[in-house]
Amino acid sequence: MKSKNTKIPVKTYLSEKEMPTSWYNVRADMKEKHPPFIHPGELRPCTAEDLYPVFCKELVSQELNQTDKLIPIPDGILDFYKMFRPSPLIRAYSLEKYLDTPAEIYYKFEGNNTSGSHKLNSAVAQVFYAKQEGLTSLTTETGAGQWGTALSMACAYYDMDLTVFMVKVSSEQKPYRKAVMETYGAKVIPSPSSTTASGRSILASDPTTNGSLGCAISEAIELAVTRDKCRYVLGSVLDHVILHQSVIGLESKIALEKYGIVPDIIIGCAGGGSNFGGLISPFMGDKLNSKNSTRFIAIEPASCPSMTRGKYAYDFGDTGRTTPLIKMYTLGCGFMPAANHAGGLRYHGMSPIISKLYHDGHIEARSYIQTDVFEAAKSFLRTEGILPAPESAHAIKGAIDEALACKANGTKKTILFGLTGTGYFDLAAYASYDASTMTDYVPTDEDLIPGFASLIPFKE
Ligand SMILES: *Cc1c(COP(=O)(O)O)cnc(C)c1O
Repeated sequence: MKSKNTKIPVKTYLSEKEMPTSWYNVRADMKEKHPPFIHPGELRPCTAEDLYPVFCKELVSQELNQTDKLIPIPDGILDFYKMFRPSPLIRAYSLEKYLDTPAEIYYKFEGNNTSGSHKLNSAVAQVFYAKQEGLTSLTTETGAGQWGTALSMACAYYDMDLTVFMVKVSSEQKPYRKAVMETYGAKVIPSPSSTTASGRSILASDPTTNGSLGCAISEAIELAVTRDKCRYVLGSVLDHVILHQSVIGLESKIALEKYGIVPDIIIGCAGGGSNFGGLISPFMGDKLNSKNSTRFIAIEPASCPSMTRGKYAYDFGDTGRTTPLIKMYTLGCGFMPAANHAGGLRYHGMSPIISKLYHDGHIEARSYIQTDVFEAAKSFLRTEGILPAPESAHAIKGAIDEALACKANGTKKTILFGLTGTGYFDLAAYASYDASTMTDYVPTDEDLIPGFASLIPFKE
């Protein structure tokens, strides 16, 4: 066991001069790219023209750019970033002490903005480009509410109209999220709703549904393509979102390099894969070029296990089956996750980039039940002082397990994890954990059958 490096400050912030001025596109360093989107009607690879009715042009070009390693961040976005970035890289001394582990634990904290999560990194970029193109309104979906809040903030700043379809169960669990979005000026509609054809059809087949991200996406896309100067924006899954989120990994890498540290293990929670993808991107680029031997671990909820129990297949991104087909790890677009408390992790699929890296063996994946996740969250908030989002607590649990493994076998590893956000809107979940009324739902193999049956039999 090596001695611990205790000279490192608790918090490291980059100066303005040290902050990244380009995003890093990990696809440029992937020898094998992920398979292309497939046009759902014509079953051929999608072109940029196919995507223009849905997404603004610059985002389409970023989505399809697999070759440029560095994509400059425009000044208008850097200006907004400076209002809430850099985010701190924190050495978890108290947690290390509590765990009595030889491991060094670091976390990158993305919760220091009103939206309370990393989602603002991409929201700002997406609204900036939409404004530049002359669009006047945007639509989106939100699960737990963090993405809708981040986008509401960005739309307020750039003066853009916004309609948010919020998964019904979340809008009931988190009424204050809705209030924040409305205060920023967004229109919030619980989904499924009767305002769209796809919403009405989902309601007709299941009037008491809790809703899902997949349903809300269908509604948001429908509104975007039927309204003038309106486009749809998505807070996760897509390659351009991971590109924007690379700012998390880039800042972390610059900060760690000051101390000569290369993490042995990097851990993130994975819903659609954006924070995890952004955090690992620059380190993964080095790994793919044989410059480090870092392990990457994605953590998902046992109730929505797209990587650990899903299939690597072409699937729709939404329940209404309107999006291009995406090759990804998926539980099937018809999968309806149980109403667990990590709303931001309840998506049936996974980013195509993360899916490909996982399929090729560059990433490990693991799932945890929610009571174990909340136990980890509690240890963390009692030692490090931050109330984590339930989503983020999946990464905390992963980091704690790795640190305890170091203790058990007497090895000193450097662990970096992504603390994606804060849990102030999740106190009902914490209360339920404290009262021991929280239950764990893990789907049986049988429960997963209907989701898999919803996969279309498309072969490459
Ligand atoms: C949305 C969200 C996640 C999950 O989304 P990814 O795209 O997988 O990063 C995780 N943590 C928080 C706090 C979120 O808001």
